[in-house]
Amino acid sequence: MHKPSNALGVARDVSPSQPVTLVRPHAARRAARYFVEKFPGTSMYAVKANPSPDLIRTLWDSGIATFDVASIAEVRLVRGLLPTATLCFMHPVKPAEAIAEAYHVHGVRVFSLDSVDEVAKIVAACATGGVPAADLTLCVRLRVSSAHAKLSLAAKFGVGVDEAAPVLHAARQAADALGIAFHVGSQAMSPQAYADAMALVRAAIVRSGVTVDVIDVGGGFPSVYPGMEAAPLERYFAVIHRAFEDLPVSYSAELWCEPGRALAAEYASILVRVEKRRDDTLFINDGAYGALFDAAHIDWRFPVELVRDVPSRAKMLPFSLYGPTCDDMDFMRGPFLLPADVAAGDYVEIGMLGAYGCAMRTSFNGFGNGETVIASDEPMASAYTVAEPSREKVTAIREVRS
Ligand SMILES: *Cc1c(COP(=O)(O)O)cnc(C)c1O
Repeated sequence: MHKPSNALGVARDVSPSQPVTLVRPHAARRAARYFVEKFPGTSMYAVKANPSPDLIRTLWDSGIATFDVASIAEVRLVRGLLPTATLCFMHPVKPAEAIAEAYHVHGVRVFSLDSVDEVAKIVAACATGGVPAADLTLCVRLRVSSAHAKLSLAAKFGVGVDEAAPVLHAARQAADALGIAFHVGSQAMSPQAYADAMALVRAAIVRSGVTVDVIDVGGGFPSVYPGMEAAPLERYFAVIHRAFEDLPVSYSAELWCEPGRALAAEYASILVRVEKRRDDTLFINDGAYGALFDAAHIDWRFPVELVRDVPSRAKMLPFSLYGPTCDDMDFMRGPFLLPADVAAGDYVEIGMLGAYGCAMRTSFNGFGNGETVIASDEPMASAYTVAEPSREKVTAIREVRS
């Protein structure tokens, strides 16, 4: 389970016929410490990005003490692992039974909502012998634009700023602390997404006249994928901090965020085997029903590397990938860049699958989980190390040369 410490070691020593998950606790620790030290407020982890117990414990050990959970199963999972963690139930539409169990059994005090009906449901579910709870933090989810995000979260949840006042008033009446939450969409490619959302928060506060104790800017912080290199996370934090300082909120108001992808993406990669090559398409042993759901269904591009003792010197070509099931949908268009001589029997590492990758596996068609190995090498990309010279530096070098 632990001897080989990178993809080449696993391929050489084990020649696995099943996909192998390589996990990098050191990368998750680095991401957690970055948020804990640099985000100007409280960072929670959005468990849905990857509910691996090992990852959750690693984040906790690195200073993440608050967890964004979205189902009663996630509440039970995190509470079972971490008896003293703070859990926030941030799904705006919850079954009454889930709210009641979360509040009465697992000590959850923070809930999100986007309607007056959900306020009433939460109040009823958290009451004890007809006496309403006096210790609730209720976060009203505001609908904001997903214009800067690679993956929209704008349609399903959130009350529009024009309809927010009655919901804010109802939540204010029922809550000890009132919050406003939003989600700018996943993999937000510009900090402007948060500035625009904060402008809507301001409008909602001004129009409703409520006192707000918590601003929760949600997730959406980007990781690094081919063709998707965003500004440094510190720029996002600076934009959020400035907008928060300008809001008409109480002096003691708190700022929260809920990163999922940014904390988990670098945690895992997979090692797959090429079973067959047909022109520029490779048949591999993981796919749409495994860790590559997003690659198949929303054409997400993950970085790939050919894993060989002697690196290929062939030129790079774009490939598409077929997964192992019998289903035509089990297809990842890519393009995935690999050396032109890649062939059946080769191993390929697919990186940045710690968020919305390994978490999405099913066992459809008999292809399920393979082994997990702890890797000590670096992830294929990182938002937390300076891998390439900054744009300013490149411009400076160009100027010197010309
Ligand atoms: C999915 C989700 C997150 C995490 O989003 P990322 O884009 O992975 O950071 C945070 N909060 C809520 C409410 C979510 O639904």
